[in-house]
Amino acid sequence: MTQNTTVKDQLQRPLRDLRISVTDRCNFRCSYCMPAEIFGAGYAFLGHEKLLTFEELTRLTSIFTQLGVEKIRITGGEPLLRRDIPKLVSMINEIDRVKDIALTTNGSLLSKLAGNLHKSGLHRVTVSLDSLDNDRFATMNGVGYQVKPILEGIEAASKAGMSVKINMVVKKGTNDSDIIPMAHYFKEKGHTLRFIEYMDVGNSNGWKLDQVVPNQFIVDQIHAVMPLEPIEPNYYGEVASRYRYVGTDTEIGLISSVTQAFCSSCTRARLSAEGRLFTCLFASQGTDLRTPLREGFSDEQLMDLISKVWSKRDDHYSEERLSNTIIHVNKPEMSYLGG
Ligand code: SAM
Ligand code: SF4
Ligand code: SF4
Repeated sequence: MTQNTTVKDQLQRPLRDLRISVTDRCNFRCSYCMPAEIFGAGYAFLGHEKLLTFEELTRLTSIFTQLGVEKIRITGGEPLLRRDIPKLVSMINEIDRVKDIALTTNGSLLSKLAGNLHKSGLHRVTVSLDSLDNDRFATMNGVGYQVKPILEGIEAASKAGMSVKINMVVKKGTNDSDIIPMAHYFKEKGHTLRFIEYMDVGNSNGWKLDQVVPNQFIVDQIHAVMPLEPIEPNYYGEVASRYRYVGTDTEIGLISSVTQAFCSSCTRARLSAEGRLFTCLFASQGTDLRTPLREGFSDEQLMDLISKVWSKRDDHYSEERLSNTIIHVNKPEMSYLGG
């Protein structure tokens, strides 16, 4: 298939990014994502036969690129739990129109996999880490995991040749005291640290607005001890606002989905591990692509289906939340859909 169509949604936003969740399972139980009391032993995760295979994922990704997608992010659940994940990276890398492929991980298996991931063509990895304090980190990840192996994973990825960013979700009263130590540590290491406002994803984390630390507060706090200067976005639709430590090349990023919604330039589609297409992190419904895929739809038919879904898209939930006009009640879990 050689066709290449740019598809725009109801708010004239093109389709540029695809986030692929490769599993809904995780070895962590972060309180803001998969609280242990809900995602316990009896929780019904997807059976293996329900997950899209690597061949199905690659075929769909290729079709998405015909509609304008250039950037791919592999996520989960914990993507490094999916067997042979470097293989998927190399399969996606072979698709001509894929310009960028990245992966978000909790870092626990990164020391082991960094070399193979890099060999498969992964140049960028984002590692989630919410604290450098063992006790706080252990509580936040819900399984008592320690900080050291994550830092070792970050080092391994960096040594393997990947550029590494760190994601820190800040929750008021939980890890706001870690902002400065994290900023200081990753400034010294030269890795970009991105602060993510705690979001009301899913229905199980008990989110409250007063638990959100506005990112402007974080910038001010860091600037007071390590001066920062703003820098321009890299590209249209970049979600993080960027700052650089004065006199260095090291940056921080701020993903302010709650206090400064960026829906107007949101070009991201999300594919759940079982092949449902979501046009927003907060959409209550996704479109099943697995059934048509397994029932023998041609590439053209699948492309037509995806194109129709994107053309109808009018999601702008974070803006609605900001203006207090709506609160969705039946939202997909972040671990199911991928961050
Ligand atoms: N397991 C991997 C990880 O933790 O990096 C990938 C999946 S995780 C769902 C993707 C990102 O979503 C992580 O950086 C995580 O911190 C973030 N995240 C999860 N729940 C969140 C929430 N309620 N608010 C803001 N970010 C959240
Ligand atoms: Fe797992 Fe990532 Fe969710 Fe934490 S944020 S529970 S590591 S999927
Ligand atoms: Fe995109 Fe939905 Fe987030 Fe807005 S709320 S930025 S439309 S994913």
